[in-house]
Amino acid sequence: VIFLSDIEEFSRIFKTERYLEIGAGVNLNQLLDLGPDILPELLLQCLRRIGSHPVRNMATVGGNLGVRDKRMDLSYPLGLLDTKIEIRSIVHPAVAHWVSWNQLVGEYQQEKKGPAVLISRIRLPENEWNIHFYRKTSYKEPSGSDRRTVFCGLARLFKDTLEEIRFLCGSELSGSFRDKNLESALSGRRIPLPRKEKESILAAMKKKLDDNDFERDTFLSLMEEFLDTIQEYFYNSSGL
Ligand SMILES: Cc1cc2nc3c(=O)[nH]c(=O)nc-3n(C[C@H](O)[C@H](O)[C@H](O)COP(=O)(O)OP(=O)(O)OC[C@H]3O[C@@H](n4cnc5c(N)ncnc54)[C@H](O)[C@@H]3O)c2cc1C
Repeated sequence: VIFLSDIEEFSRIFKTERYLEIGAGVNLNQLLDLGPDILPELLLQCLRRIGSHPVRNMATVGGNLGVRDKRMDLSYPLGLLDTKIEIRSIVHPAVAHWVSWNQLVGEYQQEKKGPAVLISRIRLPENEWNIHFYRKTSYKEPSGSDRRTVFCGLARLFKDTLEEIRFLCGSELSGSFRDKNLESALSGRRIPLPRKEKESILAAMKKKLDDNDFERDTFLSLMEEFLDTIQEYFYNSSGL
């Protein structure tokens, strides 16, 4: 038995100029209470859509990330925000090291084959994005069970230049899609994007997405909405 309360960082929230550190025992309402001055808007948008108030009082950061057979909602924005995760071996909990989200999923949680690890805290780098886009959709499968899909987008605009863009979409069962080549191809472009450029980006994304009709169409329309949101932000901030 491991007494998590013995690990000091487990319930602590700590902010420096470069990062925000959150203990894995912090519950989702405590996170929400940090508000937009401290927490990236993408994460706030995600948290608001997780369960009800009483559920968020019970659910912890570690518990949401620790579910091994399904991808829960927090993992999407945390992955996109380059969050580092501190893990400890169950056998030697005094020994800790930091891993990326991909390492956690790939090496430790893959199909329950990796060694069980304890998540003790997460570290979010300083927020440097001015456009945060989060959409969660639910649909009923022919079998009658509910399925969630999530689309997350981040963008940083300087004047009329899209300095950097990241986007990720996925569902709890079918894994996630992120295309860093497409992100690089978009970074540095001028906003507003000409209609033809927008169409060619959507066509490139369509080619890469799986042939899963519902999810592919949903993700493509959310990508279009994300690009429109960037455009809208540009018009609002430039007063055009
Ligand atoms: C009605 C309801 C609606 C919900 N809706 C949503 C939703 O819309 N979106 C969403 O994302 N989630 C949703 N959840 C899930 C919820 O957010 C929690 O993630 C989930 O209930 C786990 O709760 P917990 O934190 O108490 O973890 P636990 O139940 O204690 O643990 C869950 C798993 O994580 C492991 N674990 C716990 N802590 C750690 C740790 N520190 N390190 C490693 N592994 C750990 C446990 O061993 C266990 O396998 C919902 C839950 C309920 C009950």
